[in-house]
Amino acid sequence: MAKSKRSTSDPNEIQKDTDKLVRFLSMYCGAHHGHRLRSSFTFDHPKIQARIINGPDLCNECVALLRHAIVMRVLCPLDPKPKCRTCPQHCYRPIYREQMEEVMKYAGPRSLFKKG
Ligand SMILES: [Zn+2]
Repeated sequence: MAKSKRSTSDPNEIQKDTDKLVRFLSMYCGAHHGHRLRSSFTFDHPKIQARIINGPDLCNECVALLRHAIVMRVLCPLDPKPKCRTCPQHCYRPIYREQMEEVMKYAGPRSLFKKG
């Protein structure tokens, strides 16, 4: 029973990654799309164990990206899951992949200083 091994399909890991995606998108959208019409993000898919009840305010574009990211994370067939950047599969649709790279570039370094 290796404790350090992350199992891709572990609901706790999925929820943790989902929370991170939500946090990143929230930071990014708040900084870049503040002028857009934004509405509260919710995600409650019967087949997907990721729950976001009181999500952040996101614009339509970021809502689509976040939904795609969560679905792709949940459906990830690789175990252990590699970092998406180094993954050989590239499951994201190209348009979303480009957007997510921008989000990661912006929110990744900033989130390091905002733990907890
Ligand atoms: Zn946005």
